[in-house]
Amino acid sequence: MKNANPFIIVGQGLAGTILAHHFLEAGISFEIWDSPQTHFNSSQAAGGIFNPVTGRKLEQTWLADELFTYLFEFYPRLEKTLGSRFFFPMPLFRPFANEEMKDWLIARKGDIHHDYLRWDSDGVWVEKAGWVDVATLLLMSRAYFSSLDLLKESEYTGSQAIFCEGFHGQQNPLWSCLPFLPAKGELMEIASNEPSEEFILNKNGFLLPLGSHQFKVGATYGWQEFTNETTPEALEELTKKLASMGCTEFELVVQKTGIRPATQDRRPFVGFHPLFEAGIFNGFGSKGVSLSPYFAKQWTDEILTNSSVHPEASIRRFYHLFSV
Ligand SMILES: Cc1cc2nc3c(=O)[nH]c(=O)nc-3n(C[C@H](O)[C@H](O)[C@H](O)COP(=O)(O)OP(=O)(O)OC[C@H]3O[C@@H](n4cnc5c(N)ncnc54)[C@H](O)[C@@H]3O)c2cc1C
Repeated sequence: MKNANPFIIVGQGLAGTILAHHFLEAGISFEIWDSPQTHFNSSQAAGGIFNPVTGRKLEQTWLADELFTYLFEFYPRLEKTLGSRFFFPMPLFRPFANEEMKDWLIARKGDIHHDYLRWDSDGVWVEKAGWVDVATLLLMSRAYFSSLDLLKESEYTGSQAIFCEGFHGQQNPLWSCLPFLPAKGELMEIASNEPSEEFILNKNGFLLPLGSHQFKVGATYGWQEFTNETTPEALEELTKKLASMGCTEFELVVQKTGIRPATQDRRPFVGFHPLFEAGIFNGFGSKGVSLSPYFAKQWTDEILTNSSVHPEASIRRFYHLFSV
């Protein structure tokens, strides 16, 4: 498989698109297949946020230094290639949840503090955050791949390919033994004059300014039902989140849904099948924007040189689950 020529990449969501751009840059030949008519596309629903800080204790995300250094190089380079803007670094503010949490965090400030945090009286500012307009990135990439005659707008039903199928990966018999843990998510796009347009607000959800008084509000998490339908329950939950972020007057523009291709150990699946001529680039969960560029680069390097994908992301950690 390592010498397949050209590779077939299945799926032009964020994962397949980012991998394809790395193959192009490295001179690895491929064609990319995509079938949005028959398959879900989580990337179209994504908030697109990248944020190096996570959890109540304001910790750095896994591999934050490596991931964020690389994504700040990669997306601007891709903007130039595609002649389009979709990378928007932007301050992100996390207010303290309440007085108790504020006192708790400030008492531990010495242990918690790292380079991505700037402390304020009401919360913390997160450095190196922002958002990617994923829909634009995918649209421009689609046109670009098409102009190079690399795009097949069709379902792929074979088995010799690199599969970037998102949620559908777990239905593929080649990969169904892997510990996927998909999570349905919904968000809404709104118009409002109330929130600030200067920063992303992150408080039990996010409020992301898109410009011209338009915002994305997200997101819900569900593990029970995996249709591609929006629900009134999610609309109600998002409306409550929005109110808790101080916005009550708004007009709903659109409600979106997608299924995050998450995994039980919260790490991606990257690499070749141990038994068949196939590969996988999947499992990016709720962090596709920040994880996929770094691991596309690592895998491309592994294919071309003797380097290896990080062991916590490499599919090799699950080789014992595959059998003939
Ligand atoms: C509500 C919501 C909010 C989110 N917010 C963020 C966020 O703020 N930041 C962030 O980083 N991530 C976010 N995510 C997660 C993000 O969407 C995912 O990490 C990422 O988009 C996954 O991309 P993917 O390419 O793996 O999957 P997908 O986007 O689902 O793409 C899979 C593609 O494969 C195609 N396909 C599948 N099987 C076949 C086949 N057999 N033949 C042809 N084509 C096929 C499908 O048509 C689709 O285009 C969010 C997700 C949701 C649902």
